[in-house]
Amino acid sequence: MSELPYSYDAPVSQALFDRASVVTPGGVNSPVRAFRAVGGTPRFMVSGAGPYLTDADGREYVDLVCSWGPMILGHSHPEVIAAVQEAVTRGTSFGTPGEGEVALAEEIVARVGPVDQVRLVSSGTEATMSAIRLARGFTRRTKVIKFAGCYHGHVDSLLAAAGSGVATFALPDTPGVTGAQAGDTIVLPYNDLESVQEAFHRHPGEIACVITEASPGNMGVVPPLPGFNQGLKDACRANGALFVSDEVMTGFRTSRAGWFGIDSVTPDLMTFGKVMGGGFPAAAFGGRADVMAHLAPAGPVYQAGTLSGNPVATAAGLAQLRLLDDAAYVKVNEVSTQIQTLVSEALAKEGVAHTLQSASNMFSVFFTDRPVRDYEDAKAQESFRFTAFFHSLLANGVYLPPSSFESWFVSTAHDDTAVQRIADALPAAARAAAEATAR
Ligand SMILES: *Cc1c(COP(=O)(O)O)cnc(C)c1O
Repeated sequence: MSELPYSYDAPVSQALFDRASVVTPGGVNSPVRAFRAVGGTPRFMVSGAGPYLTDADGREYVDLVCSWGPMILGHSHPEVIAAVQEAVTRGTSFGTPGEGEVALAEEIVARVGPVDQVRLVSSGTEATMSAIRLARGFTRRTKVIKFAGCYHGHVDSLLAAAGSGVATFALPDTPGVTGAQAGDTIVLPYNDLESVQEAFHRHPGEIACVITEASPGNMGVVPPLPGFNQGLKDACRANGALFVSDEVMTGFRTSRAGWFGIDSVTPDLMTFGKVMGGGFPAAAFGGRADVMAHLAPAGPVYQAGTLSGNPVATAAGLAQLRLLDDAAYVKVNEVSTQIQTLVSEALAKEGVAHTLQSASNMFSVFFTDRPVRDYEDAKAQESFRFTAFFHSLLANGVYLPPSSFESWFVSTAHDDTAVQRIADALPAAARAAAEATAR
């Protein structure tokens, strides 16, 4: 059994975690799921319906993770499930082209102005990895600028100062990434245009692209300052580099057209994942037709995938996107604002220093009284207060991301009943945060 401070009863989850730990490193298939930042027993979920998850011990939670963003219509949405069931009865994978992937690509191109063409892949990691390769192949340059605290999946060359997962584990770097792979990556502070100008000045003709989260959510929610994304775009254009906007998290979540729909800054390449898969492994990268024309088989830059454009995943993604009309975003934004207000009021009532930051319906709470503009600011928060806050909410049936460096996510299914459950759980959680002490 765990010797961690928070191990209130979840015996079935604990037994599953013990079993998992024998056959899987750390007992999980993605590190943040292991609860290492907050301690205690990770909850093994058995089902999801609307805004709720049910764990293996039979407890129900209001879900504020939503599978890290994808479940924007809530769990088990009947129309998404019906589309999946219909697709699955026709077979699960053919290794040939199919109509579903054409329809999903058309939907993405129709929604996101800068995307002339799109290539489907199976994960956000693959999308950013492929976009970087394409940018290098197109420009015939090697170096890539990324920002500290931005996460672009576990791509070797992008696993430097990569936010949440890595922040949670306090790994300055990850073993297994070679000096050569990391050496072509230039890591700069977020929201700092001057350092971008300087980097272009120091490396003339060498920088293939700048990649940024369109609005970062992987160090907690840290929106771009006004003019930052446009400044990146301008610096790239002036120096012959490509501007790559990673919308794996924000795409089709922050608006119909993702963060592009909000700031209108036109990238050369964009990456998508999460929401566009409807809960299945589907992701994409796309952008300017002349750049995308460099991809095999049209061009020389190789990229491929056995399960790319999988018929079941594309059916789920397409069904979800077709349900995401303007009214759906109004609904998600409303419920997000409601929950933000409740959280802020509860913490203020207990005198807990906090800063609530949002980007459309994505939001997170930093336990600091100062605005958070970059990764250094994010790391300066009192994370021990989050730990107490998290466990109090968990004990009272509210499931938050198990790290203070993550965005919280809501869905169209978060109705008044779900919001009331959060409201009921917040006073005790705020008190726990107020009483927490650094260990
Ligand atoms: C989640 C995420 C990724 C990685 O996507 P996976 O599907 O987990 O590989 C990349 N970029 C951003 C901004 C993300 O939030």
